[in-house]
Amino acid sequence: MSDLSSPVAAAVSPDKPRVLIVDDERFNLNTLHGLLKEDHKIMVATGGDQALKAAVTGRPDLILLDINMPGMDGYEVCRRLKEDNLTTGIPIIFITGLADAEDETKGLELGAADYITKPFNLSVVRARVRTQLRLKQQSDLLQSYAFRDGLTGLANRRAFDERATAEWNRCLRAVLPLSAIMIDVDHFKLYNDSYGHARGDECLREVAQALALRVQRAGDLVARYGGEEFVVLLPDADHASALAVGESLRHAVESLGMEHRASKVCDHVTISVGVATVHPSELGGLAPLLERADSMLYACKAAGRNCVTGLDR
Ligand SMILES: [Mg+2]
Repeated sequence: MSDLSSPVAAAVSPDKPRVLIVDDERFNLNTLHGLLKEDHKIMVATGGDQALKAAVTGRPDLILLDINMPGMDGYEVCRRLKEDNLTTGIPIIFITGLADAEDETKGLELGAADYITKPFNLSVVRARVRTQLRLKQQSDLLQSYAFRDGLTGLANRRAFDERATAEWNRCLRAVLPLSAIMIDVDHFKLYNDSYGHARGDECLREVAQALALRVQRAGDLVARYGGEEFVVLLPDADHASALAVGESLRHAVESLGMEHRASKVCDHVTISVGVATVHPSELGGLAPLLERADSMLYACKAAGRNCVTGLDR
């Protein structure tokens, strides 16, 4: 999936595609790095565990994967990447000394997009990398239509639910906290009533943009939850850091200085922010986190809006 945190324009941004190269031999890493570094952002890993971590945190667009490595081999790395919702969409090209049809079949059956045998020909590698990246870009674009909110360009509710479930599972396995922020534009109905729906839409777009600019860690996600409600997911963020993000979002929207004369808070557009954090356990599920963030949002409105409410405040 493309990076849904950024507005839709980012889906066709001129950023170089990210390629993760996994090989235990320095010579191969250097050769492939030299071949691809000019047109791609390169990440490298020298073993299976490192590759799995880099795939989650760096969100590469393509992985070049060696098979024979000490410890976890490439087949196992591929199997785990394809099993995980967060990484299943990343195309994998095996680059390996194993030249049997049997090995190749096994690799492709595990879900690899392509299979190149060593010693490899540099222009063949470059051409096949280009092909896979083009396919990835097309599928990202299709995904972006299904998973983005048409008005704001943010992730939509469906994208949020899917990613939040995957992140919840990841935080459960890795014993990490997971935070969520619920956001509501203050007195938005009054905004629509006094400025009209076209200005209302414009207001939501500006708020969305302001939020997206401040939610930037890989893995963080800001989505339109519905109407004038937005939601932010912060994996591996404790309550204090989530509150700090919430405050920066509140401040960002207030700083837009968008006139809102009908607001009962002040004369410009503001948001209310509810923050919750859980340590995922098998029993809880995602729902309690969102319910808690929602009740914090409610508390924030009761406290006069244009503020941030969490358990520690
Ligand atoms: Mg090797």
